[in-house]
Amino acid sequence: MKIGVLALQGAVAEHIRSLEAAGAEAVAIKRVEQLDELQGLVIPGGESTTIGKLMRKYGFIDAIRQFSAAGKPLFGTCAGLIVLADRIEGNEEAHLKLMDMTVARNAFGRQRESFETDLDVKGINEPIRAVFIRAPLIKEVGAGVEVLSTYNEEIVTARQGTLLAASYHPELTDDFRLHAYFIEMAKEAAAAKA
Ligand code: GLN
Repeated sequence: MKIGVLALQGAVAEHIRSLEAAGAEAVAIKRVEQLDELQGLVIPGGESTTIGKLMRKYGFIDAIRQFSAAGKPLFGTCAGLIVLADRIEGNEEAHLKLMDMTVARNAFGRQRESFETDLDVKGINEPIRAVFIRAPLIKEVGAGVEVLSTYNEEIVTARQGTLLAASYHPELTDDFRLHAYFIEMAKEAAAAKA
């Protein structure tokens, strides 16, 4: 499986390392033409307004929407989750508008800007270690979205078909199971097309 990591801004190298550790070939994606060679794409954490701005500038909004329409999986972490969402709380215009959910940015407030916790994720056996950094929360999801994990009753991992979203940073630990889960999604999507 060849999986790309959108390399406009944010935690790119860490995702590449985790994808490789989980058994995929991983490439940093800087131009839309590179998307053709991929079976899946990660949109990393960073700063969602900046990532969104750069995506518009370099033609990634339409290109990634087409990539997704072709059945290829997307995985958004932290800022990447915000980029996937249909709706952002407040007055902010959403970016890819692919996943039927409303997200709140920086949803943990100042006291808990950054923290780590063990998280039960549906489809993964033992809890995973999750690092939250100025993290968003999923406030509301549509009927087609499956909630994979919650933290204090708030949604922090969700899946809608070929779209996977996590409000934390799975790439900042040595636990590669969520990346392996995404690689499995890419394998299933590739098999479904073959
Ligand atoms: N707070 C950032 C945003 O709203 C996301 C933080 C992150 O990706 N670690 O874009």
